Amino acid sequence: MVDLKKDVKYVKGVGPNRVTLLNGLGIFTLEDLISHYPRDYEDRSKPKKIAELIDGEEVLIEVFPVSRMTEIRAGKMKIYKLVVRDDTGTMIITWFNQSYLKNRFKMGEKYKFFGKVNMKYGKMEMNSPVYDSEETNKNTGKIIPIYPSTYRLSQNTIRTIIENGLNSLDGTLEETLPDYLLSEYNLESLETAIHQIHFPNDFKEFERARKRLVFEELLTVQIGLLHLKNKYSKNQIGISFNKNVKMSDVINDLPFKLTKAQLKVLEEIDADMEDVKPMNRLLQGDVGSGKTIVSIIAAYKAVKCGYQVAIMAPTAILASQHLESFESTLSKYGIECDLLIGSVTKKQKELKLEKLKNGEIDILIGTHALLEDNVVFKNLGLVVTDEQHRFGVRQRSTIASKGNNPDVLVMTATPIPRTLALILYGDLDISIIDELPPNRKKIETYAVTKGMEERVNNFIKKLVNEGRQAYIVCPLVEENEEIDAKSVLELYEKYKKEVFSDYRLEYIHGKMRPKEKDEIMERFKNGEIDILMSTTVIEVGVNVPNASIMIVENAERFGLAQLHQLRGRVGRGEYQSYCILKYQGKSDIIRQRMKIMQDTDNGFIIAEKDLELRGSGEFFGTRQHGLPEFKIANLFEDMQILKSVQSVALKIENEDPKLELEKNYKLRKMVENKFENRIEL
Ligand code: ADP
Ligand code: MG
Repeated sequence: MVDLKKDVKYVKGVGPNRVTLLNGLGIFTLEDLISHYPRDYEDRSKPKKIAELIDGEEVLIEVFPVSRMTEIRAGKMKIYKLVVRDDTGTMIITWFNQSYLKNRFKMGEKYKFFGKVNMKYGKMEMNSPVYDSEETNKNTGKIIPIYPSTYRLSQNTIRTIIENGLNSLDGTLEETLPDYLLSEYNLESLETAIHQIHFPNDFKEFERARKRLVFEELLTVQIGLLHLKNKYSKNQIGISFNKNVKMSDVINDLPFKLTKAQLKVLEEIDADMEDVKPMNRLLQGDVGSGKTIVSIIAAYKAVKCGYQVAIMAPTAILASQHLESFESTLSKYGIECDLLIGSVTKKQKELKLEKLKNGEIDILIGTHALLEDNVVFKNLGLVVTDEQHRFGVRQRSTIASKGNNPDVLVMTATPIPRTLALILYGDLDISIIDELPPNRKKIETYAVTKGMEERVNNFIKKLVNEGRQAYIVCPLVEENEEIDAKSVLELYEKYKKEVFSDYRLEYIHGKMRPKEKDEIMERFKNGEIDILMSTTVIEVGVNVPNASIMIVENAERFGLAQLHQLRGRVGRGEYQSYCILKYQGKSDIIRQRMKIMQDTDNGFIIAEKDLELRGSGEFFGTRQHGLPEFKIANLFEDMQILKSVQSVALKIENEDPKLELEKNYKLRKMVENKFENRIEL
């Protein structure tokens, strides 16, 4: 068997210079090289007739020279022209300074040229094409891969290196999928798939190759996650919280009635908490669906059973807000909550850590600061992370390791279609709150272009005059010459001087110090600021019920899921609320996306549509999940394959959760190889 971990420098044609360039592309081993998949393909396999050529297209022609090549001097430059014909017409092929081509082409012989055609003085020309003689197939006659590369490594070079790498395999590439899956799902063998993904014979072969590789990639992640789930929970002894501590004691005391969805989710959580195996549960619910109160009730149970609780939020603002919510519900039960964020003084921090260690703090709420080594609990029983896609698998387990197999509840407000949740959070059980508390008013949403600016500004003034507050969200902090979008600082200057000079206008953005941010948020909350301009720092969870209008500048630059999150900052009080999306650009996609925001207030539908219009990469920013990145799979386009993969994974989970059966030996190896090494737990 070939050694895939072999250094790429041993591949034919790779000298010291090229090693450095390849390393720069993330290619270190033979395996990296052969899985450096093309980003595109050029079809040089189907010739066209001269009479059918279209100005500007890249195309293959099969032609005969009709005369000798002519040489024209233009200053220092030498221009070579060759007139060629097929049975439909003639055209001119031009090269510059390539004198070695002068006698290359013989009259009466057939040649293949591939290049871009352009119309000049009513006649088709082709400049500096690649070519082959009738018998050769070096540059034409096939589908040519185009690789992600740098300008210092030409397409020709990287193509040759990869071809050499593939040739060195020579029938010795070890199959990674078990036979029973290959035949059940009619999948190509690994070796054929790898060859065909780089140099496909035709597009049908390419599709087969791609399907096989996507299947493998998704299956590895899916089984890997299920494997982790079993490792965590199946055999682990966690905490069995006391059945006699009733969640209903808090539920009956609340000033409102929980929704059916909240009650159902709480039942699931309660059952998990009473079970001795550690809980690992994802709680999904739209903005404002009432996840926080669910976590408060779970925390109540943990504390009343004698354990401590850690709540981890993505930002200091959100952590402070959580503290308020937790205290307002739980103080009356004698439960002690505290806050640990980056901005507390050293002395305060020491005090807090001391109280945490000896059990005087029941619930500690904070940011990443909770992850530090010196944060030691006396008896941690429940961990809640409010993720919003900002923590990964690793942080989750770091915080959990501060207890003895505590229960873990992960909350996210980004609605994810169920199939995708399974692959992004496959290591967790999933609960969904799919209903908003009653009497929520729909946030009226309007998408507008520049012409409406003045009316929008007047509308803001009207609402502020009535006592409300407003958000104005921009995509950038500072001006950036390369990006045509509004920045907070630039727009603040303009609005302050020209538009809202009579109003209390301030700004906040992610580059400010946490203390400054907290201060501004505090003042906004207290009604000391009328209009708050910001970047997406306010995206997450900020709760100011008096704010009833949000303007989003350059709304076309945001993901729909993100716009939906932002929009959730208004409509949190008793007032009718508005979201105005100002956008530029005339493309259909932009208009469709704006229309979805106007018409829909269901986060799950928005998420699905967004995915459809943009593809999965942008939607998720998979990097942030701590999951292996997908090299070839596209979660949206490959939904069908993902579904097959999920049914395979489920079957295996039931039949052979630890991948011990002989027939699953290869899968086990694959998961260990590609998955566990990358995710430390
Ligand atoms: P999420 O965290 O899901 O975005 P929150 O928990 O912050 O939502 O809830 C938003 C607001 O709705 C909070 O002020 C909360 O007290 C309130 N709330 C939660 N559940 C209900 C309910 N069942 N009925 C009425 N109000 C609720
Ligand atoms: Mg919340």
